[in-house]
Amino acid sequence: MKARAAAAAAALAVVFKTAIASVAKQSKKVYNVLVMGDMGKPYDVLILGGGPAGLSAAIYAARAGLSVLVIERGAFGGTVFQTSEIENYPGGVYGESGREFSSRLSAQADSFGVEKASGAAEKVHMEGKEKKVEAGGNTYSGRSIILATGSIPAKLGVPGEEEYLGRGVSYCAVCDGPFFSGLDVFVVGGGDSALEESMHLAGFARHVTIIHRRDAFRAAKQIVDHTRKKDNISFMLDTVVTGIGGGDLLTRIETENVKTGEKNVIRANDGENFGFFIFAGMNPVTDLFEGIDMKDGYIVTDERMRTNAAGVFAAGDVRFKTLRQIVTAAADGAIAAIEAEKYLIKGE
Ligand SMILES: Cc1cc2nc3c(=O)[nH]c(=O)nc-3n(C[C@H](O)[C@H](O)[C@H](O)COP(=O)(O)OP(=O)(O)OC[C@H]3O[C@@H](n4cnc5c(N)ncnc54)[C@H](O)[C@@H]3O)c2cc1C
Repeated sequence: MKARAAAAAAALAVVFKTAIASVAKQSKKVYNVLVMGDMGKPYDVLILGGGPAGLSAAIYAARAGLSVLVIERGAFGGTVFQTSEIENYPGGVYGESGREFSSRLSAQADSFGVEKASGAAEKVHMEGKEKKVEAGGNTYSGRSIILATGSIPAKLGVPGEEEYLGRGVSYCAVCDGPFFSGLDVFVVGGGDSALEESMHLAGFARHVTIIHRRDAFRAAKQIVDHTRKKDNISFMLDTVVTGIGGGDLLTRIETENVKTGEKNVIRANDGENFGFFIFAGMNPVTDLFEGIDMKDGYIVTDERMRTNAAGVFAAGDVRFKTLRQIVTAAADGAIAAIEAEKYLIKGE
């Protein structure tokens, strides 16, 4: 009952705020509406990014009785929205798609009265006690902020890459490796993660071929040596992928040797398909966060998800950490929310 009343109040607040924003837009003037929480006060917690980290933080914060606004520029649910099937979230629904998972997660946040705003944050002000986010012509005000903007895998940019995402193409061995058990898998990249993930994939795949555009690796020597010793891993060096294709699933990979110019087409055995894993780097979404400590472009936090700025927390893939998965993003979000609550209670 309590949750339902909170949800109804939140829905009314959203209608009211949307109406203000809409009037401002229609006036055709340069507008900037200051959006507060209930009673004209700043939200207790502003959350930037509506993926698993942001929505988990929202659920924990709202259940702790805090007023919460999540700002999201795309689909609520985050990166996981693109995933065709999630097999590894503990207690998840068997065979569920990322889209279905996202919609359950998003509805769960709604049920606790979490407010949502759609729009891309353009500026974030994190200094002082009142934090502000400018997004979609509004300025949102909060007493604390959780940064949960995720990180985006770098694309290879070859024809077929988007078309075959979830049908052969993947950017995450831990997520999708088991879908290619007993099949031939190709890995593109020459850094630490490409080689480490190849070792992981070699545990499922019949064979793993690492395609790399140079004849030497950026990865540490130790991991290169381990990879070379593995029976079911081989290398195609000085080689780039020029295209991928097939039918419903990925069955064709086109390559070119950068030294000789020789072109090649690799085709899957009849009735089989390929796994094609791209490890061309990750791009953490942190360009808006001036003054926040970073490492390799990711936000540095302590184990309580606190950044170097008071009242500013970070959660999920945007954080410097070792495993980027839904389960770790959700855990980060929960911790960040509870730490934000402690911060607000202390009134630091
Ligand atoms: C293809 C693929 C398949 C995957 N499959 C699995 C899987 O099966 N199992 C698993 O555990 N993990 C999987 N992962 C990893 C998982 O998706 C991530 O670990 C998880 O989504 C991280 O959650 P997050 O909330 O930290 O970030 P994200 O999910 O990336 O969410 C961040 C959100 O912030 C928003 N945002 C960014 N900048 C702004 C801005 N300026 N203004 C407003 N909003 C902004 C983004 O639009 C995004 O929705 C997969 C990843 C990929 C790429």
